[in-house]
Amino acid sequence: MFTLDYIGKSLNLKGVIVKNIVNIAEEQHIYLSLPVQEQCCSHCGHLNSYIKDYREQRIKDIGFGSTVYLYVRKRRYACKNVPKHFVSL
Ligand SMILES: [Zn+2]
Repeated sequence: MFTLDYIGKSLNLKGVIVKNIVNIAEEQHIYLSLPVQEQCCSHCGHLNSYIKDYREQRIKDIGFGSTVYLYVRKRRYACKNVPKHFVSL
């Protein structure tokens, strides 16, 4: 049995954390996330932001011969300097 770490490496997704893999009939659903890092605000450029919430984005059929869905958990940040939000992985 393959580990989630091995599967992440075999997909050549450097730095990506494979959280879970679910097989449903002929489909494979792979749930991914990235480690939390400080993000520069896309509006003012400062590092003074925090994670406001998460949004999951589904990427369909990446071409491994069967139907594969990647789920990426995107983070939405709020800036402490300006009342703006921005999205990052
Ligand atoms: Zn800002």
